[in-house]
Amino acid sequence: MSQHVLFISAHLDDAILSCGDYIDALVHNNYRVTIATVFTGMGTELSMLARILHKKFGLGMDTMDVRREEDIHAAKALGASVLHLNLLECIYRKNKDGSPVYSKLNELFNTEVRTEHQVMEEIVSVLSSQIQFENYDGIYVPLGIGRHIDHCLVRQAAERCGLRAGNSTGGHIRLIYYEDLPYLCFNNDLTWRTELAAGLIERSVKLGRSNLTAKLNAALKYGSQISLLWTSRFSMLRQMAEHARGAARQSKLQGPESGNYFFRVYTADANEPVPLSESGT
Ligand SMILES: [Zn+2]
Repeated sequence: MSQHVLFISAHLDDAILSCGDYIDALVHNNYRVTIATVFTGMGTELSMLARILHKKFGLGMDTMDVRREEDIHAAKALGASVLHLNLLECIYRKNKDGSPVYSKLNELFNTEVRTEHQVMEEIVSVLSSQIQFENYDGIYVPLGIGRHIDHCLVRQAAERCGLRAGNSTGGHIRLIYYEDLPYLCFNNDLTWRTELAAGLIERSVKLGRSNLTAKLNAALKYGSQISLLWTSRFSMLRQMAEHARGAARQSKLQGPESGNYFFRVYTADANEPVPLSESGT
């Protein structure tokens, strides 16, 4: 039976923008891939910030319906299946008095996880009730590069669920961390390596040009997010391709023209098997 791996994504696009090329390689090597996205619910009585962002997406009250559809198409293009967990992302969350938790964009990247204690409990609850961690041959979670509050919450919640599932089954849950794109490319988080990847070991998976092409093709399905994160579809494609070329240069593969590059993930243990990695599974 083929091995089954799970990518946990905060938002509808994170896993594929970050790991679409790796997912393509996994599918071509007969892995079953599921992408579970935590924040796929639609808010009501929108804050000014949410309305501004909806305008940038070019969408209205159907925003999350459209974004879920985009995600289904993107995952399908790669041969992955999706699971939408329907919690509310940060821009839709309200305080007890009904005021928005976040009213400015920069607050999304400057908030301590502990201030969102209740959301953390909700994520732990939904992940542990809807996902059997012990059934997967690898669980991928975001490092949280860029410090988006939702990404940081998802990482910590998944770590708690992994520990809990490991303890209750007497087994060992393998968490594999991925770099958050495009936030890594924005270069705003200069301390992620020493803070977010502290104690983790970098692992390499060799990918090729066809994997990058498949990722870009899938990423184009997220039309609403492209208009938020980049100035054009072209600038998205250019940034993703440059990121892969940079990885090829760093890893000293035969040069960017070969089309091969190393995709990086991180594990707590150097001997932890990572699907398709150089050290193998
Ligand atoms: Zn995200």
